[in-house]
Amino acid sequence: MINLFTTEQLKSIYPKVKDFIEKRLYPIELELLFGDWSNSEQKLNDLRAESKSLGLWAPYLPEEEGGLGLSMTEFGQLSELMGTTPLGHYVFNCQAPDIGNIELMHQFASEELKTKFLKPLIDGQIRSCFAMTEPEYAGSNPVNMGTTAVLEGDEFVINGHKWFTTAADGASFCIVMAVTDTEADPYQRGSMILVPTNTTGFSIERNIPIMGDEGAGYLSHSQVRFENCRVPKAHLIGEMGSGFSLAQHRLGPGRIHHCMRWIGICERAFDMMCKRAASRELREGRKLGHQQTIQNWIAESRAEIDASRLMVLHTANKMDKEGAKAARIQISTIKFYVADVLMKVLDRAIQVHGALGITDDTLLSFWYRHERGARIYDGPDEVHKASLAKQILKEYGL
Ligand SMILES: Cc1cc2nc3c(=O)[nH]c(=O)nc-3n(C[C@H](O)[C@H](O)[C@H](O)COP(=O)(O)OP(=O)(O)OC[C@H]3O[C@@H](n4cnc5c(N)ncnc54)[C@H](O)[C@@H]3O)c2cc1C
Repeated sequence: MINLFTTEQLKSIYPKVKDFIEKRLYPIELELLFGDWSNSEQKLNDLRAESKSLGLWAPYLPEEEGGLGLSMTEFGQLSELMGTTPLGHYVFNCQAPDIGNIELMHQFASEELKTKFLKPLIDGQIRSCFAMTEPEYAGSNPVNMGTTAVLEGDEFVINGHKWFTTAADGASFCIVMAVTDTEADPYQRGSMILVPTNTTGFSIERNIPIMGDEGAGYLSHSQVRFENCRVPKAHLIGEMGSGFSLAQHRLGPGRIHHCMRWIGICERAFDMMCKRAASRELREGRKLGHQQTIQNWIAESRAEIDASRLMVLHTANKMDKEGAKAARIQISTIKFYVADVLMKVLDRAIQVHGALGITDDTLLSFWYRHERGARIYDGPDEVHKASLAKQILKEYGL
């Protein structure tokens, strides 16, 4: 916790979350990740029940929704703690993509959809997924899309192909982005529609292997197909044609959530790197940490993580005070900056561990494999850098 951003509420919750994560999750994290998903899910459900009974459930949600009503700045600091272990967010029902869908539905879904789908999602009884990206089109330009939803009477008929639909395996519903008006302005062509995954015509073609690991359940990314998939018109979220603007609503907070989590990963990897540097002996009396190169990595990592945390919390603070739109450029800045720091810190931590670093005996390999995507999802680095540079150059008349 940084004093500048501490609040009374956070002072009381932070130690409880820390204690829970360190005592209940750290000891079983490798088993949860690399064991059979159905066993892991059962254990995670038990831990979820415990975190709920301790009053730590979904702390980012308003109190009337069963959360703790934390601001983004407060939640950011808890999210860092949760990020120190790969399933930390899951245990408190703060995990992507559900958190994004919860926030989206909270603001834009009808009362009927809220009762039927949002409530059980908030309660942790079901999971969800979000399908926007398609293998055939460049996801960096979301206007490109082949999936269509055609109104026939009171139903949408959805046809299309999506991939990298995170956590689709085992999800109860999917929020899909589809073109509903091919003639409209490109930014008003798409709409978001809720599709229960047991609807005829919805299928998972495969879980996509990520550098050799296809995962399962929550820990997977699927390729999904919609074939004459019919859902009621009432499953539309927001207005017809509002899909792109809703995606922006969803992505703003989503990006900062990732950055908060990445700082947690950095801190854990940093801790592992330092422990290894201080204990691994090159020869008698000479530890790895005595080498200047390793000292440089430790010093550079410390500075970069601290800088990232300040940037992220500053952005969170701006969002709390002025809204996500006002913090758009700051969000772009942290998205590529913190992703880069994450890559560097993980790589250094692996190098310090030597061969052990690339085995699955530590968490480092899991993060290295699964977080390489950090520089790609929710907007690749290049797109965010261009946004920032354009904004700066505007002030120079360009
Ligand atoms: C782990 C992971 C989880 C994901 N989860 C989801 C999910 O749940 N739901 C979902 O819908 N999608 C998800 N995605 C997909 C993700 O949003 C897309 O991968 C992303 O939008 C990039 O699209 P693309 O992969 O088609 O890359 P492309 O658009 O084909 O871009 C390829 C590369 O081109 C470069 N590039 C692109 N645009 C520009 C530009 N303007 N200037 C310069 N260079 C550029 C970048 O280097 C980029 O990496 C996930 C992706 C990953 C890796």
